[in-house]
Amino acid sequence: MLRWRIPLLFGLLLILSGCGAASRPELCSTEFFAMDTVMSVRAYTTDDAVLSELPALVGALENELSVTKEGSAVYTLNHNGHAAMTDDAALLLSRALALCGETGGALDISVYPVVRAWGFTSADGSYRVPDADELAALLQTVDHTRVVCEDGTAYLPEGMEIDLGAVAKGYAGDKVAAYLRERGVTSALLDLGGNIQTVGTKPDGADWRVAVQDPNGDRLLGVLAVSDQAVITSGGYERYFTDEEGTLWWHIMDPRSGYPAQNGLISVTVVGDEGLYCDALSTALFVMGTGDAVAFWRTHRDFDMLLVTEDGKLLLTSALAERFSPSEELPYALEVIDDA
Ligand code: AMP
Ligand code: MG
Repeated sequence: MLRWRIPLLFGLLLILSGCGAASRPELCSTEFFAMDTVMSVRAYTTDDAVLSELPALVGALENELSVTKEGSAVYTLNHNGHAAMTDDAALLLSRALALCGETGGALDISVYPVVRAWGFTSADGSYRVPDADELAALLQTVDHTRVVCEDGTAYLPEGMEIDLGAVAKGYAGDKVAAYLRERGVTSALLDLGGNIQTVGTKPDGADWRVAVQDPNGDRLLGVLAVSDQAVITSGGYERYFTDEEGTLWWHIMDPRSGYPAQNGLISVTVVGDEGLYCDALSTALFVMGTGDAVAFWRTHRDFDMLLVTEDGKLLLTSALAERFSPSEELPYALEVIDDA
């Protein structure tokens, strides 16, 4: 039986009101579909027109970054082997390539042919388990170090293709947050398909409360208190299928094997100042598995994380432990990651 589900991570906000031009900031909200997901933005502003520009802003970004939209910079690169990048596409591609290197290839934007072979790129859910020979052949085309982006032009060796899907929504969150700040908004909560980005605090100065989904069910793991930060989760539960033998396969690939990453983690939530960085890391740490993810955190320490392991542990960095309110009767053993 083939099944897949859409992520359910969302921001918690209790008051929803109408809004219009006002002398004091009022809560305004908008919801739109972009980048294959529902995006919702709630912002306190005196000018509700600010929000009406967001669908076009994210839509323009999608038109540059989409792997399936004919004419996008990424589509052209994949089909022609070279392409002029827009400013956003060049910036995101360069940063993504740097992060592929920093994560030792756990993040690899050239894994796209493998992702497609498993059927995770199609909207109709035509999933399949490729055989070992097919995966071995496809892995010949996976190598982020061979992707070049220089002076606004990107180049790909024959047979290779890239996809920025592991980082695009985080980057879109950064862009929307920057746009809102430019327009004078100091308090907003963005939910870009489960990728949360916060601008400032709530108007009363309190942190935003962001719910984190339990990867093993529809309940919440708990709530994180954050301000001016992104909260981004990668999880097997976000998109998966079950084959005829009952084996579950998810959408996050281990670029070394060509198989969905099975390294002991079932979800990774990364909290940090930049959505792009958090998005790249949530995918990469999921691939790395618990030991390497903790080692990566110990050497970097410029983000926080919450890991859920398949053997029932919930591991948190110490700064996050202070900001996390777990749900009652959680079936996980909570452990704070040793700072040393
Ligand atoms: P995310 O939800 O941010 O973890 O991104 C997952 C998406 O990125 C998948 O649906 C694939 O399209 C793509 N992807 C899967 N595995 C990788 C990987 N190891 N490196 C880069 N992109 C990946
Ligand atoms: Mg990601």
